[in-house]
Amino acid sequence: MTTNSAAISEGWVESVSPRAVTKGSSILGLQNLTKRFGAITALENVSVDINKGEFITVIGPSGCGKSTLFNIVAGLDSPDDGHIAHHSRAIDARELLGQVAFMPQQDLLLPWRTVLDNAILAIELEGTPRAKARAQALKMLPEFGLKGFEKHYPHQLSGGMRQRVALMRTFLFRRELMLLDEPFGALDSLTRSMMQRWLLEIWQHHERTVLFITHDIDEAIFLADRVLVMSARPGRVKLEQRIDLPRPRRGDIVTSEEFMAIKRRLLAEIEEESMKSFAS
Ligand code: ADP
Ligand code: MG
Repeated sequence: MTTNSAAISEGWVESVSPRAVTKGSSILGLQNLTKRFGAITALENVSVDINKGEFITVIGPSGCGKSTLFNIVAGLDSPDDGHIAHHSRAIDARELLGQVAFMPQQDLLLPWRTVLDNAILAIELEGTPRAKARAQALKMLPEFGLKGFEKHYPHQLSGGMRQRVALMRTFLFRRELMLLDEPFGALDSLTRSMMQRWLLEIWQHHERTVLFITHDIDEAIFLADRVLVMSARPGRVKLEQRIDLPRPRRGDIVTSEEFMAIKRRLLAEIEEESMKSFAS
C-alpha cells in the first residue's frame, strides 16, 4: 500500500487501477482457528486475513474443512479455538451472523417462488417490504442476465441462470463480505468460464470483497487476487499464493506462460494433499 501511494505521488507509475489503491484495510482477521467435530479435527490453526476489495479463492481436497470455515465466517458456527477480528475489533464468531452475505453450496432456490421472489428472499427476511425489495431486484435483473425472466420459476431455468438468481440474492443482501461456496461447481465448462468473467465484472462494479470456494484450480487462479491452498484434513492453510495477473482478465489468460507457471506450482501442492486425503 505504501509503495503504491508513494509511487502515485511520485508520478512514475503510469496506470494503477483504483482497486489496487483502495484494497488493504482489514475486514476480517481469522487467527489460529481450530474446529473439531467429536474426534475429527476439521480445521487446525487456520489464519486468514481478508482485506477490503479482495477476491480470495480457497482450494483444497474434499473434506478439508472449506465449508466449515465458511460456516464460521458466516457466523453459523463457532471455532473451538482461535480469534476473530472484525475491522480490527476482537469479536465472537456468532457476532458475524447477518454481517456476511453467504451463498451456500446448494443454490437453495425455492421452487414455488419466482425468479424475482427468490432473489429478494434474504432482504425480505431481513425486513425489507416486499414491494420495495422487488423494485430493487428488478433494477438488477439485466446485469444478472435475467431480464424478462422475473416471473419464471426455478425449474424453467438453465443451471447457469439458477446460479445467477442465487448470486443476485447474495448481492442484493448488501454486505461488504460475500462468501461463495462452489457456486459454479455443477456447470458445464463453457458456461462456467462465461460465469467467471461475468462474476469478475459485477464484483468490480459493486466493489465487494469475496471469499470463493472451488475445487477447480483454473477457476481459483483466474478469479483471485490471492489463492489459499488448504491441506487435507485437518484443514490448514498450506500455501498462500498472490495472483498478480492483470485485470480485467480475459479468457485466454489461462494459456499464458505466467498463468501456467502459477498453476504448476499450485498443482504440485494440491496433488500432494489429494493423495493424502485419498490414502486416509
Ligand atoms: P469441505 O467443504 O472441504 O468438503 P467440510 O467442511 O464440509 O469439508 O467438512 C470437513 C470435515 O468435517 C469432514 O470430515 C466432515 O465430515 C466434518 N464435518 C463437517 N461438518 C460436520 C458436522 N456438522 N458434524 C460432524 N462432522 C462434520
Ligand atoms: Mg464443502
